[in-house]
Amino acid sequence: SGSDLPESAPALVVPHHGDGDVLEVRDQPVTEPGPGQVLVRVAAAGVNFIDTYQRAGVYPMDTPFVLGSEGAGEVVAVGENVNCFVVGDRVAWGQGRASAQTYALVDDTQLVQVPPNVDLEIAAAAMLQGLTAHYLSTSTYAVQQGTVALVHAAAGGVGQLLTQMIKKRGGRVIATAGSAEKLETARERGADDLINYSEVDDLAAAVRELTDGVGVDVVYDGVGKDTFDASLESLRPRGMMVLYGGASGQVPPFDLQRLNKLGSLFITRPSLGSYVATPDELRARTTELFAWIESGEVQVTVGGRYPLSDARTAYADLEGRRTQGKLLLIP
Ligand code: NDP
Repeated sequence: SGSDLPESAPALVVPHHGDGDVLEVRDQPVTEPGPGQVLVRVAAAGVNFIDTYQRAGVYPMDTPFVLGSEGAGEVVAVGENVNCFVVGDRVAWGQGRASAQTYALVDDTQLVQVPPNVDLEIAAAAMLQGLTAHYLSTSTYAVQQGTVALVHAAAGGVGQLLTQMIKKRGGRVIATAGSAEKLETARERGADDLINYSEVDDLAAAVRELTDGVGVDVVYDGVGKDTFDASLESLRPRGMMVLYGGASGQVPPFDLQRLNKLGSLFITRPSLGSYVATPDELRARTTELFAWIESGEVQVTVGGRYPLSDARTAYADLEGRRTQGKLLLIP
């Protein structure tokens, strides 16, 4: 089956942990899929913040390794015991390894079929951040009619999708972002109230002012270190703090008594893996996500497409807070 495949092809390699300059594009061998594996010709690979944690060693990895959790493309070969996929299928994944390359090997348990009406680039853009926004708004805290949510970095990849899903469920979104332009994007995605957190002195006070002094039901915080304290202080009694990332850095160790003092708060630090832990749950969430995309209820914004050879620029832009929506690498 693989006779027409090249022996090697370009891949984005992390030779050792470090900053964005360590990234290198190198030819890597193209290998036949093993049992349970599928070889995909990658149409687009997603750029995610988790890639920067893996590159930097915040999440330690064995080096060297090929970067990238997410992608979409066409199946070119299948290994033994793969029953649900055949050569030619259009597929996507959000929890893979070594996705930022021309040919990626993916476990069939991580793969989903892309509906015919969904573009492969949109599928690549939607998997990791879209499934994250899905579980955050439907499961971690099940937003209902009238729920008041504070969403940080609302013009970002997860932020724009989360904003739309909260609005779709009848919630109210108080959005933060670092510039007027980004806040305008958040408004276009449905945000009700806008706060430029680079300009306000007291973020929690600004949130309280918008909620008649009460505070919000839930905070979705992927910024972490810089926003964490204000996020806690923005919650109503018994509200829920959802710390789902650390774009500004990881939150340091935390005194649980603070939850008591601020009014019996809840706190969770979720990750996508536990919310798509079985193929059934992965398929159920993805089916719903793609249906929303096909109907136009949820819009996926690709904020930048970069050739694989320009991956350093993509990550520099992401870490430099210069981006909105989703960034893609095109091998
Ligand atoms: P984004 O597109 O949201 O980019 C990050 C944004 O964070 C920036 O654009 C910026 O927006 C804001 N930000 C604030 N402070 C900083 C800083 N010091 N450095 C960089 N950015 C900063 O990225 P993603 O959508 O890929 O990821 C968002 C968060 O979600 C990340 O923390 C990521 O780890 C997390 N995540 C968690 C998952 C989970 O399951 N737990 C799954 C997927 C993502 P602004 O300029 O408006 O401040």
